[in-house]
Amino acid sequence: MRAFHHFRRSVPVVATLALVLTAGPVANAEASGRTREETKNTATAAPPPTGRAAAVASPLYRTGRLAVTACAPGKIKSGSAASYRRFMTSLTRCLDRAWARQFKSAGLPFAKPGLRFLTRPAATPCGKWPKGATGIYCSAGRTIYIWVDARSVREAFELGQAQFMAHEYAHHVQELGGILGYYWSRQNGVGKSAKLALSRRFELQADCLAGAFLGAAEAALPVNRLEWESTVDWTRQNGHKGWPVNDHGKGATQAYWLTHGFGAASPTACNTWTVAASKVA
Ligand SMILES: [Zn+2]
Repeated sequence: MRAFHHFRRSVPVVATLALVLTAGPVANAEASGRTREETKNTATAAPPPTGRAAAVASPLYRTGRLAVTACAPGKIKSGSAASYRRFMTSLTRCLDRAWARQFKSAGLPFAKPGLRFLTRPAATPCGKWPKGATGIYCSAGRTIYIWVDARSVREAFELGQAQFMAHEYAHHVQELGGILGYYWSRQNGVGKSAKLALSRRFELQADCLAGAFLGAAEAALPVNRLEWESTVDWTRQNGHKGWPVNDHGKGATQAYWLTHGFGAASPTACNTWTVAASKVA
C-alpha cells in the first residue's frame, strides 16, 4: 500500500505496514532449539510463562520504565540507502540493550532478534513477502526483515522509522515473552471476528510497546515532541486505512495505545489482553 504514505506540515509520517508472521512446525522446531541455547546462557532466568498467563500476567508488566541510554543512531540522509541501514541497525542495538535489561529484571531469558535488509521484497522462512509491507517480524528464526524501499530512504523520517522498528521489535518481545505463542494458539478454532479481536490485542500491544520505547528514548534519540504529536495525530486519522480488515484497530485506538505507552515509557502500560473490548476496537 504504497499510496499509504503521507506528508503533514512538511513532516513526513511514514505509515509502514508492520506485520508479524509465523511459520509451521519445522520453524517451530528450530525455535525450540534456540530456546535451549538461550536458557543455557542465562542461568538465572526462568522460562517464560506459557498459555494465557504469558499474555495477561507477563512478568514484563512489572518491570517499570525502560532505560534507553547511549542511543545515538544518527540521521538518515535522504536518498542514501546506506545511511538508512546504518540508522536502522543502530536503533536495533538501542532496542537490544533496553529490552535485554527489561527481560533481566523480569527474570526472563533474552536473545536478540536477527536483522535482515532486503533490497526488494522476497520470500522469508515465513513464506511470501506480504503485499504492501515494508517490514515483517518472522517468528521462525526470530528475525526482523526490513525492505529498504526507495520511499523510506527518500523520506528519511527518523521518528517514523524508529516507530516502525520499535513496533517490529515489539513482536520479538512478544515472541520471547510467550505472548506470540499464546496469541497463535488462540487463533485455532475460533471464528473470524474472534480472530480479528485477538489480532487487535496483539498489534495494539506492539504499538504500545513501541510507544513505551520511544517515550523512554525521548531524550536519547532525541524524539521531537511536535513530530511525535503529529505522528500520533496522523495515526488517529489514518492508522486503520491500510488494512483491508480491522486487525490492527481503528486509528483512534492505535493513537490511544501509542500515547499510553509513550507516557508511561514502560511495558506496564501495555497489557492489552485484559482491557475491555472497547479499548481494542
Ligand atoms: Zn505488527
